[in-house]
Amino acid sequence: MDESDAYQFCPRCGGALERRLLKVGEPERPVCGRCGFVFYIDPKVAVGTIIRSPGGLVLVRRAIEPGYGKWVFPGGYVDRGEPLPDAAIREAREECGLDVRLDGLVNIYSYAGRAPVIVVYAATAVGGTLCVDDESLETGEFATAAIPWDELAFRSTAEGLRDYLSGLLHPLSRPGPLPSSPPR
Ligand SMILES: [Zn+2]
Repeated sequence: MDESDAYQFCPRCGGALERRLLKVGEPERPVCGRCGFVFYIDPKVAVGTIIRSPGGLVLVRRAIEPGYGKWVFPGGYVDRGEPLPDAAIREAREECGLDVRLDGLVNIYSYAGRAPVIVVYAATAVGGTLCVDDESLETGEFATAAIPWDELAFRSTAEGLRDYLSGLLHPLSRPGPLPSSPPR
């Protein structure tokens, strides 16, 4: 379920990991039999960006597994310490060559037994030139009616596009001072 069976050795000391119940009601955790290190298998945070460009919505066709040959909006994993909006803008630039302005948060997606938590933004292309990177076969711009629903890479791709097209959009917080007396 959580991929913890994929790890056999402690990343800290190299000792053998064993599965132990540390707290009733929680899943068993991989624990090092030598140094006691608890290997928490955390979720992986990813961002995706639904970009409106003059030609339509921007999708890229994946050149890597999972989802080889299928379409997804630009996105990828967030680096540790990287703010989510920065990651979304970075991935858009890397994967399709566009500079984007984030317009809002569409939604956040997670699924039972799956590691990724996918944060999906809505954005507008404000510069750059549409291109293809080494992780995609091609880049396309799609009118709403032409979205290839049967050839989307992930469940979050379909649900993100569906929510975006239905108008779901949460405002992003703006940088600035906090109120002097926080609202209760
Ligand atoms: Zn250890």
